[in-house]
Amino acid sequence: MPATLVWYRADLRSHDNPALVEACRAASTQGKAVIAVFLVTPQQWLEHGLGSNQAHFLLRNLESLSQQLNALNIPLKFLETPDFQGVPQKLTDFCAQHQISDVYCNQQYEWNERQRDRAVAQKLSESGAQLHTFTDQVIFSPGQLLTGKGDYYTVFTPFYRNWISQLSSAQLQPLPPPAKQFPGPIKPDPLPELPDFPTPEQPLQKLWAAGENTALQALNEFCEEGLRDYASLRDQPALKGTSGLSAWLALGVLSPRQCLTAAWQASEGRIMDKNTGAGVWVSELVWREFYRHLLVGFPRISHGKAFKPETEKLAWRSLEQPEVQQQFQAWQEGQTGFPLVDAAMRQLNQTGWMHNRLRMLTAMFLSKHLLIDWRLGEAYFAEKLVDWDLAANNGGWQWAASTGTDAVPYFRLFNPYSQSQRFDPEGEFIRRWVPELKHLNSKQIHQPPVDKTDLFAESSYPQPIIDLKAARERVMQAFQAIKN
Ligand code: FAD
Repeated sequence: MPATLVWYRADLRSHDNPALVEACRAASTQGKAVIAVFLVTPQQWLEHGLGSNQAHFLLRNLESLSQQLNALNIPLKFLETPDFQGVPQKLTDFCAQHQISDVYCNQQYEWNERQRDRAVAQKLSESGAQLHTFTDQVIFSPGQLLTGKGDYYTVFTPFYRNWISQLSSAQLQPLPPPAKQFPGPIKPDPLPELPDFPTPEQPLQKLWAAGENTALQALNEFCEEGLRDYASLRDQPALKGTSGLSAWLALGVLSPRQCLTAAWQASEGRIMDKNTGAGVWVSELVWREFYRHLLVGFPRISHGKAFKPETEKLAWRSLEQPEVQQQFQAWQEGQTGFPLVDAAMRQLNQTGWMHNRLRMLTAMFLSKHLLIDWRLGEAYFAEKLVDWDLAANNGGWQWAASTGTDAVPYFRLFNPYSQSQRFDPEGEFIRRWVPELKHLNSKQIHQPPVDKTDLFAESSYPQPIIDLKAARERVMQAFQAIKN
């Protein structure tokens, strides 16, 4: 029986999915069945730096998607090929086998993904089939919002203003899931195995529930209970002051349009007002979109290059020096002797997620205080984060390291002690993740006292691995050296 094909990538849902809706519409007018496919490319994922935490979250979401689609009579098939190079042939063969002449998918913006899609479109057209693509991950496609001179924005605020000014009610109407399709003879595939990605520990799996129904429920709960106070609570890591939706957004289990519409409804339309929780929250979604536009406007970002080319000359300290290697390891393990930095890194290691304020702090600590190349930190986050997203992760790292566009000025360093006093005043977050410091009062906990009477005493919590003042001078010199 002839069919249309939905090619799933980072849009793992049945609600508000333009490619799925269009594939179903075409199928029903032409009396065809609908098949869905997901390409498993483990070698490519490893090259991109995907870690086991997100890989297994992906699997569990695929499982849920398969059930969701099955109820619509759409079987989800898995095609395996080591990397993107094999994708055009795999898809074309699949289409030939199932009498498919139209493939529907939602756009992705990373360089390799775009090259892959170009090759797929070419190969399909050579075989008489066609690839149809749709905007999904963003409200406005890259290229749609440009400066007066026709360039991509490199500064957030004017991008945000333009974004807000172009927003209309048309963007606030998520698509309903399609109706049940004609049943075809094809059965869904069992989940693929991922031998290159070891299964994470059980608690981590439990933390991250999969599936779009769970994600939609979490979105609605946040909009009812958390949105109003978002502006005042979002910087306090001890509280649940943010939405916690990033892992679902990263895989497209949830769409930005669903988020925007829910915020619009919960705030009675005040999403453009930055004096409201809804307005501030939506501006974070716009940051997400800004970084995606940058990926297209400045492809070097996808190639691991700094946005500011001159910062490529920065003299990062080399991991070949044992002291630097040890400091990098201490940062990874949450053993730097700076309580809030350590609490944050342990949160990342144990949950696959870190609070935004702490992502900024730990990224700055690595790239500035330790003067270690931001790309190493970016890769470590990619390996651990369940919400890993190339655009946002790279944008955040380059922001913190002052190598990116609209980044923090190079001379600005977050002091780990004052950040701690300001954003975790009672030390509640530190106590949760660094139990060795539980006994300290809320003054001492930010900067544990050094026991000068017995420097060789066995202590389970390390002394600070660097002197903050000296570290500051070192990074200032490094940046000044590239200015000359
Ligand atoms: P909320 O505060 O509820 O925000 C809602 C959504 O907006 C988030 O889910 C996310 O999709 C988006 N968002 C929020 N802040 C940002 C931001 N600064 N930049 C881009 N998008 C944003 N976010 C990721 O999704 N994946 C990453 O790999 C990632 N890496 C980061 C690395 C660094 C060094 C930094 C500084 C930030 C990074 N962020 C990343 C952005 C941000 O920290 C997370 O999106 C946020 O902490 C997720 O929590 P939440 O869902 O509760 O966010």
